[in-house]
Amino acid sequence: MPSSRPPRPPTVIQGIAGSPGVAVGPVVVLGDLRATFSHRQIKGDEVEAELARVALAVEIAKASLVEVGERVAQGPLGESRAILDAYLAMLGDPFLHEKVERLIRKDRLCAEWAVVSASDEVTRLFGSGHNEDAYIQERKHDVVFVCDRLVRALAGTEPTLSLTEPAVVVARDVSPADTAAMGEMPVLAFVTERGSRTSHTAIMARALEIPAVVGVESPLLGELRTGDQVVVDGFRGVIVVNPTPLIIEDALARAKRHSAFSQGLRGGGRDRPTMTACGELVRIDANIELPEEVSVAIEAGAQGIGLYRTEFLYVNRNVPPTEEEQYAVFQRVVEQMDGRPVTLRTFDVGGDKFASAFALPPEMNPALGLRAVRLALRVPDVFLAHLKAMVRAAAHGDVRIMIPMVTSLEEVRQVKRLLLQAESELGYQGPRIRVGMMVEVPAAAVIADVFAREVDFFSIGTNDLVQYALAVDRTSRKLATLASPFDPAIVRLIDNVVRAGAARNIPVALCGAMAQDPLGAVLLVGLGLRCLSMGAGAVPEIKETLSRVTVAECERLAQGALEADTAEAVEELLAGELAGRLLDILTGSVE
Ligand code: PEP
Ligand code: MG
Repeated sequence: MPSSRPPRPPTVIQGIAGSPGVAVGPVVVLGDLRATFSHRQIKGDEVEAELARVALAVEIAKASLVEVGERVAQGPLGESRAILDAYLAMLGDPFLHEKVERLIRKDRLCAEWAVVSASDEVTRLFGSGHNEDAYIQERKHDVVFVCDRLVRALAGTEPTLSLTEPAVVVARDVSPADTAAMGEMPVLAFVTERGSRTSHTAIMARALEIPAVVGVESPLLGELRTGDQVVVDGFRGVIVVNPTPLIIEDALARAKRHSAFSQGLRGGGRDRPTMTACGELVRIDANIELPEEVSVAIEAGAQGIGLYRTEFLYVNRNVPPTEEEQYAVFQRVVEQMDGRPVTLRTFDVGGDKFASAFALPPEMNPALGLRAVRLALRVPDVFLAHLKAMVRAAAHGDVRIMIPMVTSLEEVRQVKRLLLQAESELGYQGPRIRVGMMVEVPAAAVIADVFAREVDFFSIGTNDLVQYALAVDRTSRKLATLASPFDPAIVRLIDNVVRAGAARNIPVALCGAMAQDPLGAVLLVGLGLRCLSMGAGAVPEIKETLSRVTVAECERLAQGALEADTAEAVEELLAGELAGRLLDILTGSVE
């Protein structure tokens, strides 16, 4: 449907690269109905009719959610069904119904207005402020989602998004239910105002291999209308609204080149081990958030799962998953990997990630608060069930357990004690399960030699290491340029960890986003790393990158980086040496 507005010049909007790829197409704006219905005061004799409209809308919205649930149950996002069930329960919530009824009967608001006002009232009850914890934010989001569905049903539009033609979905945020429903629709790309690279939309988009730009400057929705043409560049995190034919042509050509290039890389080298030009082996593993990503990781040529972010089992729920539930998921992942190593990271809940299952009170500095292993050790029963599910999964393949956000030795020892308890309660007889830790807190990186005596392996988490060492919030868009893994302080911390691991002969991997940057990967090999774990999408490019360099070259560059005094100097050094040789990879093209 073309926009009726006069043509406007192309506008570039900056966001965060959420999922790689380029798409061109018309926009469908999701969730803009709240702003468009007319705020009508009704007469006394219309009250019953408006109440009947609400009752009918509830039934339509329910039927639509049931239909989506049935559709996704068999698909790759089958587990999202639980979220849809929670929405169904909310649609029948008497608390919400009483509010809507009062607003229609007493305040004489039309049905749409009453639903939106009730939604605002309920979300206000949750309080406000930007230090809200994730639980509150998720519950608010659920109320808004359910009420949006009701308004859509009242307006006679499909309560859940239904796309028949390929389109770019633009929204303030995309709920898990919407994403689940979109699994089988012709979605060209996602663009959202909210979110970061690690937010739900970005992760689901990567799992579905759909380009996405998230965290776009507001007021994006006010600017865009259904039918507007856009170019979505999920590599650079950029959208071009009203692109000229030349911009479109260029974007389409780039998308085509990229897909041909990555298909070529996937096809050619999938099962070949990664080897530098001088014949040194480097292990390339994949990071996953959802079990559905295992097939993508295998397809991309990953040799194992270097980081499974198990906290995604805790998303959008108010009680932690049971041992049985977790075991079923872990078992599926481990079996699919068919003997290849799977590193299960114990839940890294808190900070910027899904605290809902624990109903934690808000904190001034959540990234420095009750998070990851700190939280796990405060809820030993929940943690024990989590560890037991992992131990049981170890019977099905090569399972390793990794502890996130370790700061002190005592934390490692306590986890090991709980793991022993889990094994003995289960009567576990299998091979010894290796226990490693994330090195992502500067304190742990500095005394890595001490930790090396206590664990079986290290995996360096540069996303948090950069956040904590450089004091830059990893979710801040404004400070993103300061958060460089090429900062000499970070390079030296990594060097220290690699040396500590080598001295005790324990493996050291790196699973932060630095590993999936071609220049970062070269630097890391030069610093001595021989195992990198990354988003599955990046595996083919990094395999190809490393096949074009020798270890001697990497080491020379790493030496230069260790002596450099700024992040810019390190990047210039690497780019100056490698940009020509890696041009096709850095630009995602085959030219
Ligand atoms: C990291 O911090 O680098 C990491 C890999 O963990 P996450 O991004 O899940 O915090
Ligand atoms: Mg981390």
